[in-house]
Amino acid sequence: MKKCNDHFFDFLVSHAKIYGFIFPSSDIYGGLNAVYDYGPYGVELKNNIKKFWWKSMTHLHDNIVGIDTSILMNSEIWNASGHVKKFNELLIDNKDSKKRYRPDLLIKDYVDKNFSKNSKKKENILYRLFESLRKKDFLDLRILLNELNICDPISKTKNWTKIRVFNMMFKIKNESRKDLFLRPETAQGIFCNFHNVKKSNRMKIPFGIAQVGKSFRNEIFSSKFIFRMREFEQMEMQFFIHPKEENKWYEYWKNFRLKWHLILGNKANYQLRDHDDLAHYASAGADIEYHFPFGFKEIEGIHSRRDFDLKNHEFFSKKKLRVYEHQKNYIPYVIETSLGLDRTFLALFSSFLKKEKLKNGTIRIVLKLPYYLSPIKAAIFPLVRKDGLPEIAKKIFNYLKINHKLIYDQKESIGKLYRRQDAIGTPLCFTVDYETIEKNTVTMRYRDSMEQKRVCIKDISKIIEEETGLDKPLRKLL
Ligand code: ATP
Repeated sequence: MKKCNDHFFDFLVSHAKIYGFIFPSSDIYGGLNAVYDYGPYGVELKNNIKKFWWKSMTHLHDNIVGIDTSILMNSEIWNASGHVKKFNELLIDNKDSKKRYRPDLLIKDYVDKNFSKNSKKKENILYRLFESLRKKDFLDLRILLNELNICDPISKTKNWTKIRVFNMMFKIKNESRKDLFLRPETAQGIFCNFHNVKKSNRMKIPFGIAQVGKSFRNEIFSSKFIFRMREFEQMEMQFFIHPKEENKWYEYWKNFRLKWHLILGNKANYQLRDHDDLAHYASAGADIEYHFPFGFKEIEGIHSRRDFDLKNHEFFSKKKLRVYEHQKNYIPYVIETSLGLDRTFLALFSSFLKKEKLKNGTIRIVLKLPYYLSPIKAAIFPLVRKDGLPEIAKKIFNYLKINHKLIYDQKESIGKLYRRQDAIGTPLCFTVDYETIEKNTVTMRYRDSMEQKRVCIKDISKIIEEETGLDKPLRKLL
């Protein structure tokens, strides 16, 4: 039997498609595993999340600048970064379903589903998993799968193959030169431009470089909608510091990034977890985890990468990547913040999508996003499609659309128009009615409270700006 959360998740996926947030990629050809497209409202929401992140990082910190580097890079970069040798995961096949899985994720999902948060048994299983991974003891991992009775979710059998290792990077065949890779993280584009940015922008340590862009990983265990994709977007920032200040900045960025998330959502949905299984480049790391409908999972990683990357790039490129300060040369340390844009989208979508029972017994579906993230900031309607009301509403819409992302709609009755805007998260609706003709006022309706009041046409722009602008949330971060 399906659990309540599974039903909610099915509803969420179908809502995302019906209302134009997310479509399966290559839909008319039956889709492509773990790849998705963003629809008209999805791309607006995604852009608003990006804008909030970008401003929080590069506007509020005057020592952080942004760049946009290429997806394809010189293949040597991936040798230097360690990705060719070490960016590996484990895989196991089920002989009956012929499906492929990551055994570590099968075990993690199993304990999340079957044990409460602080259960001793859960801790013991995770410890054993961590130790087997650390020692590369794949046989013990296979035994653990068996002991826990973990079956393939499709064939329901335990007919597993041996565990193997595979590299997560996508390789592209390149006729004349070495094979190329699709970048698995945006960070390396930042490291390779460390000197260019430092010189061109006269940056002094400590300073940061931020970028938003696509990354690609050959995720074989794809499930949970846009949580784990093969093509996804990251919002990363690498902060270059003096080695002596590692702890100070590591703590600063952990706190700042958590604060950022807490502005967006409910405190109970977030937790900070220090890593026990560090990535190959990190000396300390913590995850900000979000309480998705399928349990607490990573949404952002904060790592101290020390001089791992710059040192290796120095060695491989034979170019000096040092700073000269106080008559000394040194390679800066790096604190990284790495946030998944799609996971942030999913976190917000799953947290704010609600089915609400109204006083009259009916149900309304409402996406209660923070106003500043909503895809559409306000909708303008005529009460009826006659007596000159559509013309006035159109005039207001055309005047305001230059400064705000708005929608004009007259396709249905006013009640249905409100419901549609609720379902896509539009915070404000303005309706032109007969009083508008006499008094130059319209009815304004709030999405969350559904309260209505009359406001002057001349005040609409200011109201939208005040209610939906980024000013208030950004000030909370100062
Ligand atoms: P996981 O353990 O869930 O595979 P990770 O530790 O490999 O994630 P990082 O390499 O730290 O992830 O990447 C930083 C962020 O990028 C993650 O916190 C996540 O939000 C996002 N991310 C990583 N892999 C994916 C993916 N396959 N699909 C969507 N987002 C991803």
